[in-house]
Amino acid sequence: MKLLGKPKVIIRRCERYDVEKIRGIVREAMVELDLAPHGRTLLKPNCVASGPMFKDAYTRPEFLEGVLLALKDRARGMTELAVGERCGITIPTRMSFEGAGYYPMLSRVGVKAYHFEEVPQVEIPLTHEGRLRDYLFTPEPVARADFFVNCPKFKSHPWTTVTFAMKNYIGIQDDRHRLIDHDHRLNDKLLDLQYIVQPQLICIDAITAGEGRMLTPIPFDLGLVIIGNNSVAFDSVCSRIIGLDPESVEHIRLPREHGFGPTSLDEIELSGDVTLAEAQAKARGFKVGLIRVEKYFEGSNITAYAGPPPDPERTDYCWGGCPGAIEEAIEILRVYDSECDKKMPRMHVVFGAYEGRIDKKPGEKVIFIGDCATWQGQLGDKLVKVESLYRDRSTRDPHEAKHDDIFAKMLSVSKKLRDAQSAGSPYVRLEGCPVSVAEQVLTMVMAGGLKNPYLQPEQAIAFNKNYLMWRSVTALKRIKGEPYQKHGAFEERGEAAPEAD
Ligand code: SF4
Repeated sequence: MKLLGKPKVIIRRCERYDVEKIRGIVREAMVELDLAPHGRTLLKPNCVASGPMFKDAYTRPEFLEGVLLALKDRARGMTELAVGERCGITIPTRMSFEGAGYYPMLSRVGVKAYHFEEVPQVEIPLTHEGRLRDYLFTPEPVARADFFVNCPKFKSHPWTTVTFAMKNYIGIQDDRHRLIDHDHRLNDKLLDLQYIVQPQLICIDAITAGEGRMLTPIPFDLGLVIIGNNSVAFDSVCSRIIGLDPESVEHIRLPREHGFGPTSLDEIELSGDVTLAEAQAKARGFKVGLIRVEKYFEGSNITAYAGPPPDPERTDYCWGGCPGAIEEAIEILRVYDSECDKKMPRMHVVFGAYEGRIDKKPGEKVIFIGDCATWQGQLGDKLVKVESLYRDRSTRDPHEAKHDDIFAKMLSVSKKLRDAQSAGSPYVRLEGCPVSVAEQVLTMVMAGGLKNPYLQPEQAIAFNKNYLMWRSVTALKRIKGEPYQKHGAFEERGEAAPEAD
């Protein structure tokens, strides 16, 4: 999307989740930005997980309601207004929408819901320099949106430091495609995703922000609504609000280098009733999420060891993959079981090409996590050699990607632990690149004898209901012969794929 003039970021004071106030703020911002929703208008929230356990992880429904009503107020020839998302941690998006309280709000406003794992996935060709792949899949409503509204939550993130507008794009892929390249090249993947669609409007829920983590963040009363019309400019201003240089955040710097927008304040117009300095004062002390796994587990019963991932010339640590996933996994378990740390037996988790000592005592478990884990040495009375199973990304074809099923994961994780025990192996190897948050939760549950969050009664009912609904919807579509993957959506429409500014 080409902008005339400088991109604009509007910072507004908003201390409470007051629907009418949010509606007014967003409507005024759209007037200022000269925006009128039209055609198929799609709003993408951040609803990675929800419900009481993840109460500060998602864009609040009152916030979305205010934005949706403002979109209706400003609509000119809008043919559809919808909210679409693919949530995280292998749960159905229906469950996440239900836990977030989206459905009553969507029916009140008269807005359609798209659960991205239930709709056809469209192949988008990529041609830019330095891309990870020549094409990506995205849900059809994203590929066909005429007016795209990005509505993230203002949060820290253990893989990418922060999650504002551009990181929210991880949810414009369904699970089977989202986990491909979700590794030490995650920032490059996020860059590639920017080529799928650019938002006309961005509104972030920064009323209660989330610090420290992304699934179970610590609530931080920031009392702001921030609105913009360019992702890079927007994320740069959000970064500056928490005292972070946007050029130090790779998933912001890379799109800037590729022409998606500026990070320099000289090239961004600021507006609103809160100055940047006032916003910075409000955000003083906000903690970001980038902590290496060894440090994260210091003082707990888990000792973590991390060597470099493949491509060590690029990075000595896999920020986008398995180590960050275990940090989120342990926080989920801590939320579910306040005794989690006390109950957790001593264990060792190893990532990447680690070369140091593993200080295992008799009876302690050692778990090598991820395809790229390698190690050689003595574990108890056994000499152990763990070899890399990593396959170059060029060998992974998104056309062939399969959906990960949480029940299948439970079975495979428990089988792995049982097999290792019956074979007398001093270690367990978890395969995958990445090994997802869900699998790492299950591994710690089974290795540590902890409560399984996926099977807690309050979760299990909602999970099973929404899981069956999702599977029924997709099965019905298959019976009707609707394709799950479509190719070349832009060519079909006789359009060129979107370009950067
Ligand atoms: S296996 Fe895990 S740690 Fe290794 S590159 Fe893949 S995501 Fe990163």
